[in-house]
Amino acid sequence: MSQGKSMLIDTSKCTACRGCQVACKQWNNLPATKTTQRGTYQNPEDFSADTWKLVRFAEGRAENGKPYWYFWSDMCRHCVNPPCKMSTDGVDPTAILQDEATGAVIHTEKTRAFTASDIRAVCPYDVPRQDAKTKVFRKCTMCLDRLGAGKMPACAQSCPTGTVVFGEREDILKLAAARVSELKKTYPKAQAVDPQDVRVIYIVTDDPARYNKHAAA
Ligand code: SF4
Ligand code: SF4
Repeated sequence: MSQGKSMLIDTSKCTACRGCQVACKQWNNLPATKTTQRGTYQNPEDFSADTWKLVRFAEGRAENGKPYWYFWSDMCRHCVNPPCKMSTDGVDPTAILQDEATGAVIHTEKTRAFTASDIRAVCPYDVPRQDAKTKVFRKCTMCLDRLGAGKMPACAQSCPTGTVVFGEREDILKLAAARVSELKKTYPKAQAVDPQDVRVIYIVTDDPARYNKHAAA
């Protein structure tokens, strides 16, 4: 039986071009967000109801004094057992849906009946954002509409470096394991982040928390 779909995001290949971020906005018809210069290349500062894909930039110094600059193409992880859905199911099991064929987690218009403590606070990766006007929670849909038409998610389609790869979950899990064992030869801390719990699996070469404070559950 198929395990549904998964996505691999190999941060070791990411150049922070933000093609994925723009492709997400374009496909989903999401308006641009007004931002201010904050002394970083990351823009906008955070997710919002209109920003579902965000390339996070993180810089710092390792214990040995060596500087690092990491990129993290952030999005909903489409959890295998989604805490957001578990939190709302007791009140309305149709507010958050999980697509049977792919495993995509979909926040519907009915999420407007819930609060941030029901949905955002329970997300281990701090992903969903409530629209200030409609009160609906919004986030990545795995481009379920594109998948239905035989296409890849817009971010995977647009990535020029092979960082974002989409496919059958069993293939993605194998690909992740092979890539981690390759990277470990050079980077002993190389790892896949929460691979058994999520459908969007990140590969890192250093501690996940250095990339994004909400990198791991
Ligand atoms: S990452 Fe957060 S919003 Fe996405 S499925 Fe998991 S709990 Fe829900
Ligand atoms: S499109 Fe690919 S290389 Fe460019 S920022 Fe996104 S994940 Fe990184």
